[in-house]
Amino acid sequence: MKKRVAILGATGSIGKSALDVISKDPDNFEVVLLSARSRITELEQLKKQFPSAVCVNNNLLDAIRNVQPDITVNGIAGSAGLEPSIAAIKSGSNLALANKETIVMAGELVLKLAKEMGVNIIPVDSEHSAIYHLINGLGAPSEIILTASGGPFRKHTIQEMQNVTVEDALAHPTWNMGTKITIDSASMANKGLEIIEACILFKIQADNVKVVVHPQSIVHSMIRMHNGAFYAQLSKPDMRNPIADALYWPEIAPPAIDPLSFDSLTLEFEKPDTNKFPILNLAWEAARLGKLYPCVYNAANEEAVSCFISNKCGFLDIPKIAEYVLQMDWSKEFDNIEAVLEADKKARLEAVNFIQKMR
Ligand code: NDP
Ligand code: MG
Repeated sequence: MKKRVAILGATGSIGKSALDVISKDPDNFEVVLLSARSRITELEQLKKQFPSAVCVNNNLLDAIRNVQPDITVNGIAGSAGLEPSIAAIKSGSNLALANKETIVMAGELVLKLAKEMGVNIIPVDSEHSAIYHLINGLGAPSEIILTASGGPFRKHTIQEMQNVTVEDALAHPTWNMGTKITIDSASMANKGLEIIEACILFKIQADNVKVVVHPQSIVHSMIRMHNGAFYAQLSKPDMRNPIADALYWPEIAPPAIDPLSFDSLTLEFEKPDTNKFPILNLAWEAARLGKLYPCVYNAANEEAVSCFISNKCGFLDIPKIAEYVLQMDWSKEFDNIEAVLEADKKARLEAVNFIQKMR
């Protein structure tokens, strides 16, 4: 039986990679739903390529409910991905989840809902994909080690980072991704989001999630088992790999990319500089505090990034904005998505007020 696949954010970096994987195996996959937001011409092109798919740029939640896919690839950027993830789970669809914001904002509620609905959430974020498959093979680890490329400013001094432009931040050394996540990789807010994502997805304490800078982006993450040994997943930095792993799961995916050659391969590792990238420590703290802090970390950072992109604040203001919003009280208990959306909105307002005061 073919898997009926929905691709949310089909015009984006993840969406295109997912379509590439699926197009190579029409015997196993059928595209039933494609969504976009602003790239309408591209969506129309996709409609020609996949004529039986429902294509939408609005009413996405209704479309998910109507189509009821077997598996949904969520490649929507940012917090806008949360409600579509929930709609997919409620429609009984498994979730191949690239949209890390779903977990950061409301991970516990989303995992509980998935359990109730009997559907699987298979992470696509490359680090979490690596960890997910390692844990499936080996069991629960004592420590998770997330690798980070270090981004384009790895070798910059703080003084040099003071005046970097949006263009500088978009020049990622190893990965080719959408705008928001690329800026987050430059500030290491992306690794911060991933620390939180790992804590929630793998039910592990924040202090047992470590980060190591690995500029080649070949080792996609590691786990340390109770005997002290480390286990890692290695492949070229190409998202078609974790996307295929999620789409074929629980089967083993055929190779989605060329294999890695060990003929001349140098792998380097170094400690992240939290003075240069203070947003990392904020993420560990938000993960420790739990409650609404992870959601607020994401919301404040999203606002800060959109201000940086529109030249309303500097690159080094991004962690300052997040820190300002996170020092407020976000310790309210909650058991519904409405409370999450409310905190998200409030945190954004606080971020915007702070940015206006800074100028
Ligand atoms: P892109 O910016 O390349 O693509 C985003 C997609 O989401 C586009 O199709 C866009 O539509 C759509 N979209 C944006 N805003 C909305 C909205 N408000 N409502 C509905 N659809 C919307 O992002 P990426 O593919 O890089 O990232 C997608 C997600 O995957 C993010 O959560 C990111 O963190 C995660 N991820 C991405 C990786 C990567 O390699 N790119 C790696 C690991 C995780 P349109 O363009 O038509 O406006
Ligand atoms: Mg990642």
